[in-house]
Amino acid sequence: MEFVSSASKTIKANDILLASAPCGIGKSLASLLAILPQLGKNKLLICFRTRSQLHIYLKELKSLRHSPSAVSLFSKQDMCPLRIKGALSYFDFLEECRRLKDNCKSSTKPYCRFYWNMIKKKKKAEELALDCARRILAPGEATRRMSRQGFCAYEALKQVLNKIDIFLGTYHYSFNPSVRQALLKGFGVDLPNVYLIVDEAHNLPAFSRELLSDRLTQNTLEGALRETETFRHETVPSVQECLNMLSDGIFQRGQELLTKEKLRRLDPQKVSDMFLDRTGTPGPEAAQTLHEYGDYVRETRQQQGSDRIFSYSHRVGEFMKNFFEKVESPYVHLIQRDWRGGIVLEVRSLDGRELTDPVLQRARGSVLMSGFLSPLKVYRDLMLNDNSDAHLKEFNSPFPPENRLVLAAKDVSSRFEKRTDKMLDKWKNYIEAISEANEGNVAVFFTSYELMHTILPLINTNRDGTIEQRRTKRGEVINRLTKSGDNILFGVMGGKFSEGIDYPGNLLTCVATVGLPYATWDVYQKALINYFNHEFPREGRTYAYLTPAILRLIQTCGRVHRSSSDRGCIVILDERVTRQNIKQQLPNYFQKEMKIVESPNTCAEQIVEFWEKQQKKP
Ligand code: SF4
Repeated sequence: MEFVSSASKTIKANDILLASAPCGIGKSLASLLAILPQLGKNKLLICFRTRSQLHIYLKELKSLRHSPSAVSLFSKQDMCPLRIKGALSYFDFLEECRRLKDNCKSSTKPYCRFYWNMIKKKKKAEELALDCARRILAPGEATRRMSRQGFCAYEALKQVLNKIDIFLGTYHYSFNPSVRQALLKGFGVDLPNVYLIVDEAHNLPAFSRELLSDRLTQNTLEGALRETETFRHETVPSVQECLNMLSDGIFQRGQELLTKEKLRRLDPQKVSDMFLDRTGTPGPEAAQTLHEYGDYVRETRQQQGSDRIFSYSHRVGEFMKNFFEKVESPYVHLIQRDWRGGIVLEVRSLDGRELTDPVLQRARGSVLMSGFLSPLKVYRDLMLNDNSDAHLKEFNSPFPPENRLVLAAKDVSSRFEKRTDKMLDKWKNYIEAISEANEGNVAVFFTSYELMHTILPLINTNRDGTIEQRRTKRGEVINRLTKSGDNILFGVMGGKFSEGIDYPGNLLTCVATVGLPYATWDVYQKALINYFNHEFPREGRTYAYLTPAILRLIQTCGRVHRSSSDRGCIVILDERVTRQNIKQQLPNYFQKEMKIVESPNTCAEQIVEFWEKQQKKP
C-alpha cells in the first residue's frame, strides 16, 4: 500500500519515482495498481532488461478483475516463425524480412507466406491478434497461436497496437530511439501520453551506455576480406587496402601489444593518420569507402536472389564511421582481448543519459524500480540530466528480520595489498567454519574465478561441492540442491548463480561472499571515474566503481531470502563493508541488522545460534 500510495502521487503529478523495493514487496502489482486507475486515454509502457520479468507482469495483469488488453513482443527475429536466424545480425535480419514482405506486395519469389496471409486475410489476422491481446498472451504463446493460423504474430500484433492499453517489452522498446519511434507510431500516441514502468532499473545506466557503444570483432573483419574476393567492383583494391590496414595495423598489432593487459585505449586521430599513411585515405574516408562497397554487396546479393541480404564490409564501415565520428567525451576508444583471446575494437560511451533523460522527462509519469537501487541519488544522477521532477523512495524488506542473520567479518579483506597467503588461509578457515556450522545448502561466491581457484584447493569440507564453470547449467545445480542439503556451491559474484536466479523452497540457507566485487581495474574504469568526477565533482569513484560493486554484492546476498518463509545466513567476508562510507551504501535493513564477527569461530557460533533459535520457533 505504501508503494501504491507513493507511485500514485508521483503519477498524478506527472513526475518520476525511483524506488528501491526489496524482493517480496509486490512492486510489480503495486506499480500497476498505481497507474491503471489513472490511465484514461493514455497508454502504459512496461519495460525490463530480462525476459523473466515479463511473466510476472503478465500474471499480475491476468489476475486483475478488469484486465486491460496487453501486447508483449520479443524481438522480431525471435518471433519470426520462418526462423531465419543463422549468422544474420539483427540489422541484416530486418533487411531480409523487409525484402520478403516487399516481395509479397509485388508477388515475386521468395516471399514470406505468413505476411502474405496477413495481406490476403487482414480482418482475420486482426481479430486473432486482438484476441491474443485480450488474453494477455506471452510472445511465444502468441507466435504459436498465430503461426498455426498462418500469420506472422509480430506484424499482426503491431497492427493492433492502437487498440490496446498496455505494451510490455525489453528496454529497447523504450530507450532505443528507432525502436521506440516505431512502437509509438503503432501505439498512436507520443511520449507525453505514455506512462512508463521501468523494472530492474539498476540495469538502465549500463544498458543505455552499451546501446550508445559499438564494437568490431576479428570475425567480421575476416568476413569482409572474404567478401572482396567474391564481389568484384572497381573499388575492391582500395577496400582491400583499408581492410588490410585494419587487420595488420590494428588487429595484428593488438595481438602483440595485449599480452599482460587485456585492454588499451586508442587515439582515433592516430588511427586515422595510420590510414592516411598506409592507404593515402584518412580514417573517415576509409569508413565511407567500406560503407559504399557494403551497399554494393547487399544490392548484388539482392539481385542474385540470395537467401540472405547482408554485408560484412557494410558492418565494418558502420563501425568505423562511429569510431571516427564519436571522438569527443563521453566516448572512449578501446582495443581489447575477449574471453576467447580474440581482438575487439570498441567505441564505448561513458554516459547513457543521452538516451534515458529525454524519455523520462517527456513521458507522462514514470516509475523506475528495482529490488536494490541504492544509493537512489546515484541512479537518479546516472539517468537524468535534470532531476527536479524525481522522487526517491527506499522500502524496507517485508520479510521477517528474525529469519535472517547478516554477518560481516572484520579480519579479512580482498584489498590487493592484503592478498597474502595468510589472508587466503583466513578465508579458507571462514569457509570451512561456515560449511560446518550451517544447516542446509551453502553457496560461496568470490570476486573472480582467479580468486576462487586460488582458494578452492585449500578448502576441506564434507559437503558435496559444485564449482561454477562456463558450461555449468542452472537446472542441473538446482536439481542437485533439491536432492540434499549437504551441498556447497562455489561461484563468482556477477555470475549465473549469484544473479537473476531463484533458489525456490529455501534451497540455499547460507551465502558467503569473499571480497568486494569491484570491476577489474583498467583504462576503461579510470576513464569512467575521471568522467564522473567531471560530471559529479568528487563522486567519480562512488558512481563508477563503488556503487556497481555494492549492487553485485547485494544481488548475491539476496539469493537466500526469496520469500517471507525463507530462513538463512549471509556472511560478508570483507571488513570494508563495516566502514561507514561503504556501510551507508548498503540497504537500510543490512545496516541495521549486520553483526560483526572477528574470527571463524565466532562466525560459526553465530550461525549455530541462529539455527538453534529457528528450531525453537513454532
Ligand atoms: S514478416 Fe514476420 S514471418 Fe515474415 S519474415 Fe518478417 S518476421 Fe518473419
